[in-house]
Amino acid sequence: MTERPPVLSVRGLSVRFLLPGGRRVAAVTDAHFDVAPGECLALIGESGCGKSVLASALLGLLPANARTAGQARLGDLDLLTADERTLARTVRGRRIGLVPQSPAAHLTPVRTIRSQLEETVAELTGVRGRTALRAAAEQAAARAEFPAGHLDRYPHELSGGLAQRAATALALVGDAPLLLADEPTTGLDRDLVDRTVDELRRHVDTDGDRALLMITHDLAAAERIADRVAVMYAGRIVELADATAFFGTPGPRHPYSRGLLEALPDRAFTPIPGLPPELGDLPDGCAFAARCPRATGACTALPPFTGSVACHHPAPADRAAATEDIRA
Ligand code: SF4
Repeated sequence: MTERPPVLSVRGLSVRFLLPGGRRVAAVTDAHFDVAPGECLALIGESGCGKSVLASALLGLLPANARTAGQARLGDLDLLTADERTLARTVRGRRIGLVPQSPAAHLTPVRTIRSQLEETVAELTGVRGRTALRAAAEQAAARAEFPAGHLDRYPHELSGGLAQRAATALALVGDAPLLLADEPTTGLDRDLVDRTVDELRRHVDTDGDRALLMITHDLAAAERIADRVAVMYAGRIVELADATAFFGTPGPRHPYSRGLLEALPDRAFTPIPGLPPELGDLPDGCAFAARCPRATGACTALPPFTGSVACHHPAPADRAAATEDIRA
């Protein structure tokens, strides 16, 4: 059987912000990953590690002082070099559905949620006629657990959680081949987190040609629906792993990934000491060295990414060796 091409293929993606005085901020450096048809890839890491900048680069929504390098192919289109007209007319909403990080800013403040949903349905699905549009908008709201009784409200009349669900409903309308969810569970309680991410997962499962890239710092949400996990630290992807192995046994291989899991309340509940480095002032070697329990002199050199991990001293990949490694 021939392997199907990825929905999204990112190669060497870097983003630099040029600041006054000649300063450069390395927001994303040399990111490589694919998202396959039928797959959910969770991109995880602490706030400020470059995850959302990477999402903005894929959507062509970076500010004017940003410079990109590398490739991000969505089918035959390179998202990094596509012009704004192409991105606006054929990509955003149609080929990439976006569940945004700040729904309040994404929703039009002077229009009700119903009218925004009806307009999006008309634009993306071709449904016509008042009754049909009304029914389709209500169906779209239900998919994201947005209550029908709130459809005639304006965005400022919604709680953060309801605004997030309204934005999710809008993102699902076009049934885009790639759903890009940027912190889709912000402001939701645990039960709603589960239902929201389950709906995102269903987007992939109901059509094996679709894919989901979920950017999140919510590891429980990632564990619930992801097939693979990409861990980002200081602008670089430092680990790419199968989700079952990552959250179970043998567990993550990169010390930062291990720290993220150990910080969870239902695990060791031990935070990673220290803070991430400034993206404008990164060290030459491993950016995690100052916080890393495994750091040695070798770590003053930048660890190469092997395809699964970027670390000079990663935990072993197999179960038995990993158990020994934890005991040591
Ligand atoms: S390269 Fe060294 S400092 Fe960096 S994560 Fe690995 S062991 Fe730690």
